[in-house]
Amino acid sequence: MVYTPLPDEVLKELLQPNHTKIVLLVLDGLGGMPMGPVGPTELEYAHTVNLDTLAADGTLGMHIPLAPGVAPGSGPAHLALFGYDPFKYNIGRGALAAAGVGLDLQPGDVVARGNFATLDDQGRVVDRRAGRISTEEAAPLVERLAEIQLPDVQVDVRPVKDYRFVIRLRGEGLSYHLKDTDPQRVGIPPFPVEPLEDSPEARRTAELLNRWIQEARRVLADHPRANGVLLRGFATDPQLPSFNERYGLRAAAIAEYPMYRGVARLVGMDVLDLEDTTPEGLFRTAARYWREYNFFFIHFKETDSRGEDGDFFAKARAIEKVDRALPILMDLKPDVVVVTGDHSTPAKWRSHSWHPVPLLLWAPASARTDDQYRFGETACTHGGLGIIPAVHIMPLALAHAGRLKKYGA
Ligand code: ZN
Repeated sequence: MVYTPLPDEVLKELLQPNHTKIVLLVLDGLGGMPMGPVGPTELEYAHTVNLDTLAADGTLGMHIPLAPGVAPGSGPAHLALFGYDPFKYNIGRGALAAAGVGLDLQPGDVVARGNFATLDDQGRVVDRRAGRISTEEAAPLVERLAEIQLPDVQVDVRPVKDYRFVIRLRGEGLSYHLKDTDPQRVGIPPFPVEPLEDSPEARRTAELLNRWIQEARRVLADHPRANGVLLRGFATDPQLPSFNERYGLRAAAIAEYPMYRGVARLVGMDVLDLEDTTPEGLFRTAARYWREYNFFFIHFKETDSRGEDGDFFAKARAIEKVDRALPILMDLKPDVVVVTGDHSTPAKWRSHSWHPVPLLLWAPASARTDDQYRFGETACTHGGLGIIPAVHIMPLALAHAGRLKKYGA
């Protein structure tokens, strides 16, 4: 099995434009497991009339997100769904967070995720999340941080959610090869920023950031809980090739969570403002922008969250919510719809797993249907698409949308 994507130059030669519309609907962590030795998975337990109709008219299969046996993070798993080699492009946590809040990235930038933290009078960490202060309470504190200046570099700080923020340094001669300051436990002081490579750039950036942290403690000193900061996930612009150029599409992303908005933005999709965050709201957002784009990435997070909670029934209910809203999407008359997850998050495991992920391809003009009529793991294992690497889903979707020519004479 070939796990690497189609080469750019081959894809470029095959692309042919048309007016079809493709939807990639991702239910995060969709794949599941029975809670006991036998029985249904979350998806099989869920009552999904609309998805089952698509399954009956379409073709089922499974995809392997990254490689057999490798449990993926959502970042690399989405890159693979978008058809990028997830081992070639490594998006740092800081870069995902920065893109997620709309902070643009350029080569040479250094970004990191930040936490407000509570320090005692000896400078030891008492609470790594500053009592989980709210977004509202954090906002004026982020403004204070944004006032801090450093010599010869531009510093930007943006709030994320609750106690989290993002910092970006922009200037000449910086390096992101730096060690996290978050000690990951309480009772000891935060680590200083230290270079992870022996270069003048890394040493200089570490010095600048240590100076910034010192200033941050000064401007936050009077706050009872958020009187310190922790930085981690130093990263830079991953320089991902453009999704729109690679596939000849105008792509829009409909996603609530910053991380998925971030990964979509990093591949150059337009990230849309949501009507609301329910499945109905996500599909209504697609309806509102339907004429402007020909590719829609729609992301639903709750399936993964309930899987991580270990709540089998809540995960099944989350799947049912998407199913009930699905007619809003299908009324738009898309040409190709792919329904899948980025990875499995079985409630039984309370974590991401390496198991193959259910895949549904619905394309009435070109489908070679199989004899499966219910969307679930067992049916998908016997489906007509077989078990394929995730990076091949995009070319399949393009082909079914009539957007790929013959290769060779
Ligand atoms: Zn995920």
